[in-house]
Order: sequence, then C-alpha cells, then structure tokens
Amino acid sequence: MENKSFKYERQREEMVRNQIEARGIKDPGVLAAFRKVPRHLFVSEALRDQAYGDYPLPIGEQQTISQPYIVAEMTQALELNQDDRVLEIGTGSGYQAAILAQIVYRVYTIERIRSLHIQARNLFDKLHYHNIVTRYADGTKGWRNESPFNAVIVTAGAPAVPEALVNQLVTGGRLVVPVGNQHTQELIKIDRSKNNYQQTNLGGCRFVKLVGEHGWKEA
Ligand code: SAH
Repeated sequence: MENKSFKYERQREEMVRNQIEARGIKDPGVLAAFRKVPRHLFVSEALRDQAYGDYPLPIGEQQTISQPYIVAEMTQALELNQDDRVLEIGTGSGYQAAILAQIVYRVYTIERIRSLHIQARNLFDKLHYHNIVTRYADGTKGWRNESPFNAVIVTAGAPAVPEALVNQLVTGGRLVVPVGNQHTQELIKIDRSKNNYQQTNLGGCRFVKLVGEHGWKEA
C-alpha cells in the first residue's frame, strides 16, 4: 500500500514538471494545487496507473477527465484569488473542482448526469473537500441563487458562449469556455468590466458536448 502511494506521488511530481511547468504554467497557486490533488482517485481503479499520463481518460457515461495540462491552462486563465467564489459547469470526475478548491474560497459545480454527480459528491466527502458545493442540474443556465461569481469555468464544449453565465459574473469577473462545433473548439476567455466584455481566444481544444437549454440539444 505504502509503496503504491509513493509511486503515485512520484508520478504526480513528474506530471507537474514535464507536462505543466515545462509548457509554461507559472501561477504558484495552480502548481501547488496540482502537487496536492490525488488525480489517481478521480479515475476507476483499472485506470489508476494511467492517471498521471499526458491525455484525457474515460470516466464512464461517455464522458472524460481532461488532460492535466488543459485543466492547468484553464485554471491559470481564471486568474483566481483566494477569496473567490467559482462556478464550474461539468463536474465529471470532480478533478477540476478539486483543483479549484485548493485555490479559492468556495467552488460551486453542476453536473447533468446523476451517476457522475453522486460519485463526485461522495469523493469530495471522502477527501474532505468541504468547500465544494455540488448540484445535479443543467448548468447552461448557471446558478442564479448563488450568483454573482468571481469566475466561471465550463468544462464541456458549447456551440456559443452561454449568455446566462456571462450575466452571473461580478464586474471584473472571468469566464473560460470552449466554443466551437462538436469535434473541435477554441478556448474563449471573457473578462467582464463595468460596461462591456473583452473576449480573448486562448487556442484550440477538444471537449465533450455541453448538453442543455443553452448548449447542444440532446441527441
Ligand atoms: N471537469 C470535469 C470534466 C468532465 S467532462 C473533470 O475534471 O473530470 C464534461 C462534463 O460536463 C461531463 O460529465 C458532462 O456530463 C457534463 N455536462 C455536459 N453538459 C452539461 C450541462 N449542461 N450541465 C452540467 N454538466 C454538463
């Protein structure tokens, strides 16, 4: 047992150095979070030995846990502060939410597939991540009762920037969302200022579909 956990610790450190720092991620809070969160516990037992690899992995229900680097890139782009409240759409395995929870005051995360929602909620309890609030719902409408948020992250590909999410940002708030077709997207960042929005394109990416009222329609 002990040997195993040392092995994962070593793999985690190599992931941070070779995949994340080597590609230019510098935010100390982001790097510290990646060194802490046990990514191997966010995948099924059969995939544990691959958990620190440079690729996404299946998590069931035809969904995936994102490649470590894309999680790091999106997290850094959110420019987080320690008293921020952050909304995530697409809990999935819970890994991205766990990373956010190391950095900010509170994370609100929404998942539309019940089994994934329940599994993630149980894991957060087990790992004592008490600053993550989970919800089973269509996240494309945001979470009005808990808004506004300092930052919003969408971890599924949208056909367009979901307007409800922009409207639930504070002035000075940041939104990161993959936008494109069902095969490939661009990572879009929105900065909300007092009277307008600034949009930046952070480059290509590939996510599963955001399905919901302001996303793709169910097949
Ligand atoms: N952040 C996750 C990535 C999961 S993949 C992780 O770290 O593992 C994207 C997830 O978004 C899937 O679980 C999918 O079911 C979910 N999703 C898709 N559309 C959604 C919607 N409208 N509301 C909430 N979750 C959604």
